[in-house]
Amino acid sequence: MADYNAPLKDMKLTLDHVARMPELAQKPGFEDASADMVDAILDEAARVARDVVAPTNWEGDQQGVQLKDGSVVCPESFKEAYQQYAEGGWGSLQFDPEYGGQGLPFLLSIPVMEMWHSANMAWGLCPMLSQGAVECLDLNGSDELKAKYLPKLVSGEWTGTMNLTESNAGSDLSVVRAKAEPEGDHYRVSGEKIFITWGDHQMAENIIHLVLARLPDAPAGVRGISLFLVPKYLVNEDGSLGELNTAGPLSLEHKLGIHASPTCVMGFDNAVGYLVGEPNRGLACMFTMMNNARLSVGLQGVSISERAYQQAVQYAFERIQGPAVGTREPGPIIRHADVRRMLLTMKTLTEAGRAIAYDACGSLDFALKADTEEQKATEKARAALLTPIVKGWCTEVAQEVTSLGVQVHGGMGYVEETGAAQHFRDARILPIYEGTNGIQALDLVGRKTLMDKGEALSALIQEMRNSVAACDPSLTAQAKQLEEAVTGLDRAREQLLKGAVDDEQWAGAVAYNFMMLAGYICGGWQLLRQGNAVVRLMAEGEDDPYLQAKLESVRFYMAQVLPRWKGHAEMVTDGSRSIMALPEELFTSAWE
Ligand SMILES: Cc1cc2nc3c(=O)[nH]c(=O)nc-3n(C[C@H](O)[C@H](O)[C@H](O)COP(=O)(O)OP(=O)(O)OC[C@H]3O[C@@H](n4cnc5c(N)ncnc54)[C@H](O)[C@@H]3O)c2cc1C
Repeated sequence: MADYNAPLKDMKLTLDHVARMPELAQKPGFEDASADMVDAILDEAARVARDVVAPTNWEGDQQGVQLKDGSVVCPESFKEAYQQYAEGGWGSLQFDPEYGGQGLPFLLSIPVMEMWHSANMAWGLCPMLSQGAVECLDLNGSDELKAKYLPKLVSGEWTGTMNLTESNAGSDLSVVRAKAEPEGDHYRVSGEKIFITWGDHQMAENIIHLVLARLPDAPAGVRGISLFLVPKYLVNEDGSLGELNTAGPLSLEHKLGIHASPTCVMGFDNAVGYLVGEPNRGLACMFTMMNNARLSVGLQGVSISERAYQQAVQYAFERIQGPAVGTREPGPIIRHADVRRMLLTMKTLTEAGRAIAYDACGSLDFALKADTEEQKATEKARAALLTPIVKGWCTEVAQEVTSLGVQVHGGMGYVEETGAAQHFRDARILPIYEGTNGIQALDLVGRKTLMDKGEALSALIQEMRNSVAACDPSLTAQAKQLEEAVTGLDRAREQLLKGAVDDEQWAGAVAYNFMMLAGYICGGWQLLRQGNAVVRLMAEGEDDPYLQAKLESVRFYMAQVLPRWKGHAEMVTDGSRSIMALPEELFTSAWE
């Protein structure tokens, strides 16, 4: 099984030259995020990811999880890895020191989280959901709830879950049926939730479920849903654990991938719960968690792509097959042009995704620390616009990257023992959960573009044009390729705004292609920014081979990946408009 080594050089270049980490470290409250501190944190996280978490990945996939006597049992190695994670304070980097956090930028937690997911995506989901729960509670909970639950969630002693989905309520949460009845200072929550990630386990002593349910007098629809905190074990006034609540796993799903992440059907049987935020405002509260989670899922796409790439590269150096062109002796398959095409496609899509994801997360920190309301609004709009692109595009390309990882292995990729197949299987959930990519695409065209009349997208397009204008002469050819693509994106933006006025079906019909178009172009833009930074660093005397490799990434992506924008742009123009006019019988006419 191939090892995992965090791509620290790419992570640091992206932090410093794309996501504006040095500028962020100047902001009041973030002084601790000095370059030395960032290096120390990333180096140590890389060690833990490589030596502690990554070795659990294969075992987890093979062993999976079981439900025994009403409790989920996961591989023993997972518990040990989780303990080291919690003891190392890894879950507290970005949180408020008032609750035991380290007060560092959210951005700094992103490469760290990327490492956990590369090392073991099924395991990494548990910390990921806990972090979303902390954020949701911090923003929406009462002081009392925060004081009681946040310190243990931040320290990792307890973990968190997100309970939205029901059998009838997936993409459409307006029809959630779980109920909550008031009783004294708390509520009684009843109902069944499905697909709940890490809904139960023994890695931590308590689990804090955030659950969507309806109050008795709640209006129908999304405005009648409230959010409740339901602990697995009730918590006494002094913070000690009380009796077991009536909330737990009823069964486990058998899945295509992430075998070691328990996906639970959860039963809430008159369970004690506490209202989080205002009554009937639960979905808005949950959205704070879902936005965080959407970025995290996009990042998972980057993580699993990185892992698949590292594994494929290793195999390409080891696997001996027929002679390459110009040689007579059999040699490693890395010498074949088509294998290099696959590896470079994997590498550059991963690097592009990493840069978009880090950049979006950095904007959230800049919004938090903005000096003016205007700056705050600009950074917030930028992060909001990039979020569906990070979630949608990075997880779509993860399908291609992990599939190429299998292809590089040939037949050994299709059988299980190399591990390449696991990455492909694990990646398949990413376009589905946390709002399917169809829903992300609708978010991008609807809430993020049509609602502000394309303003945030125009601002992003202007940033891209500024990068093109400031490009080093050695990258002129690449800048020209990007410039043409950016003009195409601007045209698609105008078409979207116009088309949606005349035809209410238009936006939905072109949404997916619009998202992919924006993703490929954002990826090219970020790589060009990196290329410019690399040229500067080399002029200053740095000569790490990684820098030259990055310039080759820029060249390859612009020549062989970026041109895909044209196909998506054409489909935005009119390719998918007519699909809603087709009769439904068309889909079955071949056999009916
Ligand atoms: C492994 C796993 C882990 C999960 N973890 C959690 C968790 O921890 N907590 C939790 O609450 N949920 C969780 N989920 C649930 C997940 O978020 C949902 O599966 C997802 O939101 C999609 O809902 P659905 O499965 O009901 O699909 P549906 O909503 O039925 O969608 C089916 C298809 O129709 C499309 N579609 C539906 N509505 C629209 C629309 N309005 N416009 C365009 N297309 C549409 C979708 O894009 C999709 O392609 C998990 C799911 C899985 C499989």
